[in-house]
Amino acid sequence: MNTCSYRDLREKVINGGYCIGCGACVSQSNSVGSNVLNARGMYEPDFASSESEINNVCPFFSDRSETEIAKTIFAATKGIRENEFIGFYLSTYAGYVAEDSFREGGSSGGFGTWVLSRFLSENLVDGVIHVKPSSGKGVLFEYGISNSIEDLKKGAKSRYYPVEFSGVLREVRKSQKKYAFVGVPCFVKAARLLCENDDEIADRILFFVGLVCGHLKSKRFADMLAWQKGIKPDELRAIDFRQKFSSGPASNYGIEIRGEKDRKAEILAERASSFYGYNWGYGFFKPRACDFCDDVVSETADVSIGDAWLPEYVDDSKGTNVVVVRNPVIQELVDSGIKSGALRLDSIPPEKIIESQEGGFRHRRDLLAYRLVLAEEQGEWYPRKRVEPKKDGIDERYKKITVLRMQLAEKSHSAFEKALKADDFEVFKTEMKPLLLEYDRLYRKSFASRVLSKAKRVLKKRKIRKIRDRLHFLV
Ligand SMILES: Cc1cc2nc3c(=O)[nH]c(=O)nc-3n(C[C@H](O)[C@H](O)[C@H](O)COP(=O)(O)OP(=O)(O)OC[C@H]3O[C@@H](n4cnc5c(N)ncnc54)[C@H](O)[C@@H]3O)c2cc1C
Ligand code: SF4
Ligand code: SF4
Repeated sequence: MNTCSYRDLREKVINGGYCIGCGACVSQSNSVGSNVLNARGMYEPDFASSESEINNVCPFFSDRSETEIAKTIFAATKGIRENEFIGFYLSTYAGYVAEDSFREGGSSGGFGTWVLSRFLSENLVDGVIHVKPSSGKGVLFEYGISNSIEDLKKGAKSRYYPVEFSGVLREVRKSQKKYAFVGVPCFVKAARLLCENDDEIADRILFFVGLVCGHLKSKRFADMLAWQKGIKPDELRAIDFRQKFSSGPASNYGIEIRGEKDRKAEILAERASSFYGYNWGYGFFKPRACDFCDDVVSETADVSIGDAWLPEYVDDSKGTNVVVVRNPVIQELVDSGIKSGALRLDSIPPEKIIESQEGGFRHRRDLLAYRLVLAEEQGEWYPRKRVEPKKDGIDERYKKITVLRMQLAEKSHSAFEKALKADDFEVFKTEMKPLLLEYDRLYRKSFASRVLSKAKRVLKKRKIRKIRDRLHFLV
């Protein structure tokens, strides 16, 4: 068994800011540790003694990369292929669920809840471990178990919110039942590492469903969205980060907030774009761990599910999934779903999946290489990555954007604490303003340059050389 000391985990991972709060390290059967929310609104493990010896199942401390883990699970699967960016795959799709209300109730095309419901209805598992509205412990969402399709549906939708799974795994150990587990890529990796080290958990969890992931948010993200609309953090009761509207592109979804304003119940729903600080590029309240992560699509999951951020699909406000299947049992469910008309899925090449997450791959592959250089220059320890440190060949503007993004994330945590102390949301905005102005100025420039580069590539394909030459000097 691969073990490490809590002292090492604390010094390198937790103090270095690389802890995502998953709870894997406090999930061993005889664990003396606990996982609690810290001042930033992220989970963080704590052990009474720094000498505690723990299983090295940390996604940011284990030597096992996503590729190595995936190889032991999928490499021998008949018909499996491998891609540098999405890992192993049997098939890749874009589409949605046509039956029942899965699509309406989901964040994207509803495939997530559909495939989990098929596990239950086919008796492949007894329960699903996923994230649901919390039963009230000072947090809005938590990992829980659903044993029926009705329960499962109540837990649909993406939660941009801190969660951890050590509590739910305690329940899982108590029963002899079989489960499917849902998580973002680093959580799936952590759960897979747990299974490699822990026969009890390996016996219980049979399927892993991975969500494509841009980055996670601390609890403060939900607080910020509510507070700017007049609902203070301790008066926020519920939030739907992905409300669908009947028109407009799927990417311009809404946010619904429930809470209290001047002691009266308040419900508001507005387009995400109308909220200050929602722009994912700013990375407000992003844990540092997410800047040192290279798994965009959950490469260790049996099936990965994301949003089809592709021009062919994004205009449909009802939402469309991208799906990567790696497990033959899930492939059978998908095949029969397509045949019966329950699923409307188009077979697409892996390149289209990559295109749908273009920004995510740029940030977590090309620009991660640069962040590793920055960490090395500072003499900092950083987790083992599948990307080599590199600064050559990276556009100077992008280098500046990378640094600014890290500063924006870091500043958002401290600025929000300051605003809370002052009991004034405007303090947060004032603190963020200088960095935001600089970021917006730089980003606008590089965005314009990207649009022109893309236009040039299209024109090149069409061999319209004259026009391309005229555009050349503009970039
Ligand atoms: C933090 C985060 C970041 C994401 N970033 C991207 C991205 O950059 N690009 C992209 O294409 N897609 C991203 N997604 C995935 C996307 O938002 C949808 O979740 C996905 O497309 C599935 O939609 P659906 O309609 O098929 O699933 P649904 O039917 O809505 O089911 C979603 C399932 O996921 C579970 N779940 C929700 N939130 C969490 C969570 N935090 N941890 C574990 N389980 C959870 C729910 O309990 C439910 O079972 C992200 C999701 C999260 C949670
Ligand atoms: S990332 Fe997970 S396993 Fe690693 S230290 Fe944090 S809670 Fe523990
Ligand atoms: S970006 Fe990576 S580290 Fe951050 S939550 Fe997503 S999978 Fe985990």
